[in-house]
Amino acid sequence: MSDSSEQTIEIKKSTARAAAMARTWAARREWAANPVCCCGCGGKLAVGKDPEHQRLFCQGHDGRLHKLLRQVLRGEASRQDIPVAARANLARIKFVQNDREIQKAFANPGQQANRRRKLQP
Ligand SMILES: [Zn+2]
Repeated sequence: MSDSSEQTIEIKKSTARAAAMARTWAARREWAANPVCCCGCGGKLAVGKDPEHQRLFCQGHDGRLHKLLRQVLRGEASRQDIPVAARANLARIKFVQNDREIQKAFANPGQQANRRRKLQP
């Protein structure tokens, strides 16, 4: 293992990270322009005047996402089932930020999904 090959690996890693961040930001911008319910029902939300107070869910639908995330944690649902809108707004969803267990449902979604897909015949 030479220094240069280690460097190449590091560059590849940071490029992948940058690409993942770019995707996340693109998803956030897209969502901000056309917000939909984060539970994955596809329900459209009114664009709030103040982005800080933008609604994230249809009335009562935060419970649906909570249920889905618990299913992911129990292995009853796939991480790929987590709606893109929920991922894009992860940092804003209070019950996620307040619950470390729930946060695990989001951990390394891309990596985990790819690994699992490769393992399957
Ligand atoms: Zn919903």
